[in-house]
Amino acid sequence: MTYKQPAINNAFDFWGTAAMATQHNNEPDGGETVPVGQIKRNLNTRGCPACDFLDRKIFDMFSSLQYRLCTVPSESQLLGATLGFCARHTWQLAAVASPRGAALAWTPLLVKLKDALSAMASAADPGAAMGALVHNRATCRICRQQLGWERNYVAAFAVFVGSPDGRAVYGASQGVCLPHLALLLPCLPAPDDRQFVLEHAARFFARLTDDLAGFDTKYDALRRDQLSADERDAYWRMIIHLAGSRRGCSP
Ligand SMILES: [Zn+2]
Ligand SMILES: [Zn+2]
Repeated sequence: MTYKQPAINNAFDFWGTAAMATQHNNEPDGGETVPVGQIKRNLNTRGCPACDFLDRKIFDMFSSLQYRLCTVPSESQLLGATLGFCARHTWQLAAVASPRGAALAWTPLLVKLKDALSAMASAADPGAAMGALVHNRATCRICRQQLGWERNYVAAFAVFVGSPDGRAVYGASQGVCLPHLALLLPCLPAPDDRQFVLEHAARFFARLTDDLAGFDTKYDALRRDQLSADERDAYWRMIIHLAGSRRGCSP
């Protein structure tokens, strides 16, 4: 089995080894500055620009991570030492890894769990130690990294939307999903900007209602060839804009 090395820049300290060495709190890393051009490109989507940005970041991160876990023994040792990830991100990593690669990557973690559980078996109160073996959103380093990227992106997005150019581009777009609208609003200090994005969202859902009605009518009447582009993907846009993308939205 060979693994193709993803050509991506993975500069952040994924395992938090620097933070562990200096005993600093490992706050989410927002990563690099988000260029305006990137935000404009994201706004061309039929889905949510913030979800699309995060989808790409997370996909690149998983691609790089699964490669390193399968080819660099110290990486799988770090996976074991840090007790892996939350359930959601364990499944996501498994989805991009081969079964053989996953077997290699997770073996050090299994050894660590075996030792920890054996020690707990003779403890008077193993409950607290058991909790430390299961990651949640606060302790999973992928959750924390994703949150940092999301905060960083939404903050840059808010600055863009608050500019005249940004308002024009946003006005012509599909806008952000509801979960990201909830994150965006507190980042917009001007009441006028908050009113703008809320009215935009209200118009979006009004148009979406019409598109869904058109989709329903033409679908039933076997006039599917007459579906407009907006009617054709109305169902998909409804799900994305209600809930965000499966990968890009925070759990
Ligand atoms: Zn979104
Ligand atoms: Zn997680």
